[in-house]
Amino acid sequence: MTVSRVTVLGATGSVGVSTLDVIARHPGEYVVHALTGHSRMDVLEEQCLLHRPVYAVVADAVQASALQARLHDQGVDTRVRHGAEALAEVSADASVDVVMAAIVGAAGLRPTLAAVQAGKRVLLANKEALVMSGALFMQAVRDSGAQVLPIDSEHNAIFQCMPHNYAAGLAQVGVRRILLTASGGPFREFSVEQLASVTPAQACAHPNWSMGQKISVDSASMMNKGLELIEACWLFDARPDQIEVVIHPQSVVHSLVDYVDGSVLAQLGNPDMRTPIAHALAWPKRIDSGVSALDLLSIARLDFQAPDDLRFPCLKLARQAVTVGGTACAILNAANEVAVASFLSARMGFTDIPVMIEHVLSVMPSESVQDLDHIMLADRVAREHAEKWLAQRS
Ligand code: NAD
Ligand code: MG
Repeated sequence: MTVSRVTVLGATGSVGVSTLDVIARHPGEYVVHALTGHSRMDVLEEQCLLHRPVYAVVADAVQASALQARLHDQGVDTRVRHGAEALAEVSADASVDVVMAAIVGAAGLRPTLAAVQAGKRVLLANKEALVMSGALFMQAVRDSGAQVLPIDSEHNAIFQCMPHNYAAGLAQVGVRRILLTASGGPFREFSVEQLASVTPAQACAHPNWSMGQKISVDSASMMNKGLELIEACWLFDARPDQIEVVIHPQSVVHSLVDYVDGSVLAQLGNPDMRTPIAHALAWPKRIDSGVSALDLLSIARLDFQAPDDLRFPCLKLARQAVTVGGTACAILNAANEVAVASFLSARMGFTDIPVMIEHVLSVMPSESVQDLDHIMLADRVAREHAEKWLAQRS
């Protein structure tokens, strides 16, 4: 049996914790090379005690020396490092086979790209990295021969329903369209008036999935589905008009692929990220994930409905951005990150999220992407415009 060496970027987050849960079920098959975390140092410490990685990577020198001392006292010889360079190094290290990219937001772009450029098997949870850098990211995948396996449950489902040769082009393999399912989030039935006064706590209480704060707010605003639409365009080389979003409140059908002969293949499962994580870790093998068997009789019914662009404009903004191309998706992503953080810190309301994003997109015309620095510049300028908009209206 071959042993895979794994780096988990964002180990202390929701996806990171689920990844280590799956790994712990298969001792002897996976060895943890590095774990990284930006906060929750107590969680990272526990993880280091259990998995004994060679490296832990944290945000700064103060965190690093405190964690190093605690680990040393407990006889753990994990080396604690800090900063962006260390993140990239533990992703690209020659001894590493698999990198779980589970940092949230733009902060994950450079280490995820480092893993791609080093030709690793990259388990992609950090959708923002791909949204920001799409063409560049996919070119790096082709150049290095990296194997990118989607962790986002919808994209993992689509991957499972695609024929193995889908890279030949969707039309060539007989795919008519991709049906991307969305739960609709906690505010699916809310009126515009109700949406205006929802709180961060309400937005973070997702009905089906337990997730980090940022993606929870994205799910509530439907921007998560917008980012996923862009993600699917890149991963499956699909045009935006080949992807239809369908609201499916039970979150049991994780997405579907519609073929020209009328066949529609779907992947179903309980809403638990350990399923796509186990699938991508072991692919093409199947391993136990700890997720219980689907009980269709207790689910009893599966509902589907159309999304509502009027109450949830973020999906439409994302569709427009990916259609325009260039830097538009990086701008959309950056404005959304500022909008979500501003909502979470009570500096603006929930219905301001799409207004802020639309403003930033309107003042920053899309440019064709030159290189990574160009994307990072668009990201920075978009954040500045978003902050300026917020400052001027309050
Ligand atoms: P989370 O907030 O629970 O965890 C984020 C992780 O990133 C933590 O380990 C945190 O310490 C680290 N991090 C945060 N800021 C950082 C920074 N500036 N530099 C380095 N590390 C930093 O988030 P999550 O819910 O686990 O989501 C992670 C990613 O996976 C996101 O891109 C999200 O969209 C995607 N995703 C999550 C789920 C889910 O069920 N949670 C599902 C699909 C996709
Ligand atoms: Mg998803």
